[in-house]
Amino acid sequence: MRNVQGIHHVTAIASDPQRNLDFYAGVLGLRFVKRTVNFDDPQTYHFYFGDEVGSPGSILTFFPWPGARRGRQGTGQVAVTSFAVLPGAISFWVERLVRHAVKFVGPTRRDLDGSDVEYVIEFKDHDGLMLEIVGHEGAGARSVWANAPGIPSEHALHGVHAVTIRANRGTDTEKVLVDTLGFRPVRGQEGTRRFASGDGGPGTLVDVRNVGGFPSGVSGAGTVHHVAWRVDDDFMQLDVRSQVAAAGLQPTPVIDRDYFHSVYFREPGGVLFEIATDSPGFDIDEPIERLGERLMLPAQYEPMRARIEAALPPIHLPSQAISSVENE
Ligand code: ZN
Repeated sequence: MRNVQGIHHVTAIASDPQRNLDFYAGVLGLRFVKRTVNFDDPQTYHFYFGDEVGSPGSILTFFPWPGARRGRQGTGQVAVTSFAVLPGAISFWVERLVRHAVKFVGPTRRDLDGSDVEYVIEFKDHDGLMLEIVGHEGAGARSVWANAPGIPSEHALHGVHAVTIRANRGTDTEKVLVDTLGFRPVRGQEGTRRFASGDGGPGTLVDVRNVGGFPSGVSGAGTVHHVAWRVDDDFMQLDVRSQVAAAGLQPTPVIDRDYFHSVYFREPGGVLFEIATDSPGFDIDEPIERLGERLMLPAQYEPMRARIEAALPPIHLPSQAISSVENE
């Protein structure tokens, strides 16, 4: 059996594109690594945020749909996306969220099994997407974007730490994680079970929270669209795809997303899962130094560039606005 290697990316739905960019690239200091369109709907943006190069595990992506209706949080969804920081960065983030008027809860100590202590700040973006910053000793193993204005690199976000799935019957979801994708249970705690894959550090963790009787979620702004799990290469992806098919879960064919290759399927709890390859990566169509500066289009839409650009709302990188506020 082939195992996935952790989280590749999380994709969520947002409303206003500029507000999304200001929050994730500005307040949270992620690098805007790709400005492109939704390959299935090229009149709308697809934004990618991550570390310097957009390493798998650092990536958060958004479909920002202007005027999108709010979704509803519920079961069958990834409820919370957590970012990893070094434990010493927690007070920096408390201060930064206060300064940017982002409401938060915490920091609280989350003592999951006695050996793996986490310090957690909970907050939401403008659309209500549930986020956490988690102080964890293992965060240093993951890379950062070291050039975010106002964020010293020792305090920067070290990629996605974990995702929390809200499940009505967690056992169905857990069975797919373990039997089909190769996650291993790492601990049980009242109502929430944690699973790990790959090296078991930040970026490989899934918490399944059992909330029986909770209404199911409705897709819309402020909700996660899907979570993607990492595989090393195309061969591994086909093997995992076969495992998914053997479990009766009807995976899609392999789809070329330019920056990685994808297979999608819905797990029985209702969450859309993706299996994504580590390569080719975000420098396939522009140099690392220039990531995110220009609108990049897949080859099939390049002939329509003028029409697509005219339909998309103008956006600007938030760096200057943020640094001028902080220099006052
Ligand atoms: Zn995806």
